[in-house]
Amino acid sequence: MHLLFVEDEPRLARAVKRALQEEGHVVDWVADGLDAYEQARVESYDALLLDVMLPGLSGLDIARRLRAEGSTTPILMLTARDAVPDRVAGLDAGADDYLVKPFALSELLARVRALGRRAAGSTGEQLSLRVAGLELDLRRHEAIREGKRIELTAKEFALLELLMRHPGQVLTRTQLLDRVWSYDTPVESNVLETYIHYLRNKVDRGFDRQLIRTVRGAGYSLRDA
Ligand code: CA
Repeated sequence: MHLLFVEDEPRLARAVKRALQEEGHVVDWVADGLDAYEQARVESYDALLLDVMLPGLSGLDIARRLRAEGSTTPILMLTARDAVPDRVAGLDAGADDYLVKPFALSELLARVRALGRRAAGSTGEQLSLRVAGLELDLRRHEAIREGKRIELTAKEFALLELLMRHPGQVLTRTQLLDRVWSYDTPVESNVLETYIHYLRNKVDRGFDRQLIRTVRGAGYSLRDA
């Protein structure tokens, strides 16, 4: 999708932009609200991702103005934690969905995919992923291997989904932490190793072929054959 991403916090903006690009989106990043509003009027976007607090013009004002002008481009509003009035205001202003900061990038990517489906009016939602005899049921949030159903927690599911969407590819610690936890997770955190351990116990234990591979000094990957 062609996305306009409006965010004035550079570190967050870089992490989000990179994740969106890795997912195959074309991203225009703008830090100022007024610039963003003007760009949204002249360019044709598939969706807008708007931070609320922005210099120039707030995300709410951008949404309000565009809707008043008849724009139907899907809008995802990014709001500060606990700012409940913000969320309600965002939907009132014409946003289609909102996400509370700090968010996991995997959650953001899922919301963007949902916006894309809504915009396309598509019902052809992908229901499962399959890699090397392992199936991931995207609706039930469970894995299936050789007929055995494996229940997963939300984080285990997000981690396995990310590995399965990039089979055979090494994903770095930073990529995995950013996407499955949050862009502000310290890189020295051992939460990733803990969850890889949980996933191995559920997905690989008792099978001859170990699918989750540690790539020393680099990250993790899922064997694709
Ligand atoms: Ca901001």
